[in-house]
Amino acid sequence: MTSPRYDVAVIGGGIIGLSTAMTLTSRFRVSLILIEAEDRLAAHQTGNNSGVIHSGLYYKPGSLKAQNCVKGREAMYRFCSEHGVAHDRCGKLVVATSPDELPALDELHRRGQANGLQGLRRLPSEQLRDYEPHVAGIAGLLVPETGIVDYKQVCEVFAAQIRQAGGTVQTSRRFLGCKRHSDALAVETTGGELSCKSLISCGGLQADRIARACGVEPGLQIVPFRGEYYELTPERRSLVKNLIYPVPDPRFPFLGVHFTRMVHGGVEAGPNAVLALKREGYRHSNISLSDVIEMASYAGFRRLIARYWKTGMGELHRSLSKRAFCKALQRLVPELRMEDITPAGAGVRAQAVDPSGAIVDDFRIVAAERMIHVLNAPSPAATASIRIGETIAEMAARNFELPVPA
Ligand SMILES: Cc1cc2nc3c(=O)[nH]c(=O)nc-3n(C[C@H](O)[C@H](O)[C@H](O)COP(=O)(O)OP(=O)(O)OC[C@H]3O[C@@H](n4cnc5c(N)ncnc54)[C@H](O)[C@@H]3O)c2cc1C
Repeated sequence: MTSPRYDVAVIGGGIIGLSTAMTLTSRFRVSLILIEAEDRLAAHQTGNNSGVIHSGLYYKPGSLKAQNCVKGREAMYRFCSEHGVAHDRCGKLVVATSPDELPALDELHRRGQANGLQGLRRLPSEQLRDYEPHVAGIAGLLVPETGIVDYKQVCEVFAAQIRQAGGTVQTSRRFLGCKRHSDALAVETTGGELSCKSLISCGGLQADRIARACGVEPGLQIVPFRGEYYELTPERRSLVKNLIYPVPDPRFPFLGVHFTRMVHGGVEAGPNAVLALKREGYRHSNISLSDVIEMASYAGFRRLIARYWKTGMGELHRSLSKRAFCKALQRLVPELRMEDITPAGAGVRAQAVDPSGAIVDDFRIVAAERMIHVLNAPSPAATASIRIGETIAEMAARNFELPVPA
C-alpha cells in the first residue's frame, strides 16, 4: 500500500466528530478528513435536540458527564460569544409538584453544589412565580447557569474552523468498513476507499456497528429512543419565560417532559422517550425489520424491556395520546390547554445498553489499535462537546503518531 493519504479520518459530522476534528486540526499539523453519511452536518441527534446548554446539575459528582459538562458548558458559552453563535444564558427552573419529589429536589441541589454550580437557589412555592409567572409547584430550584443555543450553527462554525485549518469535511460519504494494513487503515466508503493512519469514530446512532465493522467489539448495543416534541402556539408562548423542568426520576434522568424556550423564538414542550423501531426512526411509521431483529436478538435489550416495560408503556401512551402528553405538561403549567400545543418533530437518542440490560449512563470512549471509538455520548454531550473533543484529541495524541503540534 502507498503511504496513507490522511493522518486521521473522523467518522460522523455530528457535534462530537466536528469538535474532535476542530481540536485536532488546531493543535497538530494533521492531514484530516471528516466524513458524514448524510447530505448535511448535524443531521441526527445534534440537529434534533432541545438546544439546551446544560449546567451540570444532574450528574453524579466525579462522573465523566459531570466533569465534562461543567467545563464544556463554559467553553461552549465562550465559543458562542467569540464566534457570534446565537445563545442565551437564561437559567432554568426545576419544579417539584408533589411532596414525594422533595428529596430528589434536595439531592439535585446537593449534586449541583458538588459539581461546582454557582448561584443555585432553592425557592419556596410562593417565589416560583417571580421567575415563571404561570408555573405551579410546591418548591423549586433556580439554576442560573443553564442556557439555550443553536447547535446546528455551532456545528457550522466548527466545520468552518476545520476547513480553515486545512482539514477536509465531506458530507454524503458513508463509512462502510475498514481493513487494517501494517502501515495504514483502508477505509471503505460510499465515495471510494480512503487510506489513513488512524481513525476516530463518532457515529452516534451507528457507533456500535461502526466499531464492529472496524473489528472492535463494543460490549454494548445502541438502542434508539425517539424524543417527540410539541410546540406552544404563538399566542400562548407567554406561558413560559425560559426553561421549566420537572424533578427527574433518578433512575431515568432523561425522562420527564419540560418546556424549553428556543434561541430563535418559540417554546418547545417535550421530549418523551419512546422505543424507536429503526435507528433513525423519527416517526412511528419508520420501522426497520433488520433493526428490530437485531434488537430482539440482543440479550441486553430483552433484559432492559423485562425490567422497564411499565415505564416504556407510559412513554408510549404519552406518545400516542396528545391528552396524556398535555396532562404531563399541565403538572408544571396548569393553564396549558390541549389546543395550545401542536406537534413539532422529534429527535432520536442513541442510548447504549450493556449485556446486563443496564443503560450505560456515562460517556464511553474506547481506544483500540490506531482507533478511538465514541460508543456512548448521550445528553449532555452537545453541551460538553468542546471538552469531549479535547479529551479525544488528548487520547489521540497519546495513542496515535500525530505530527508535531501546529
Ligand atoms: C431529543 C434529544 C434532545 C437532546 N437535548 C440535548 C440538549 O438539550 N443538550 C445537550 O447537551 N444534549 C442534548 N441531547 C444529546 C445530544 O444531542 C447528543 O449527545 C449529541 O448530539 C451527540 O452528538 P454525536 O456527534 O455523538 O451524535 P450525532 O449528532 O448523532 O452525530 C453522529 C453522526 O454520525 C453520522 N454517521 C453515522 N453513521 C455513519 C457512517 N457509517 N458514515 C458516516 N457518518 C455516519 C450520522 O449521520 C450523524 O451525523 C439530546 C438528544 C436528543 C436525541
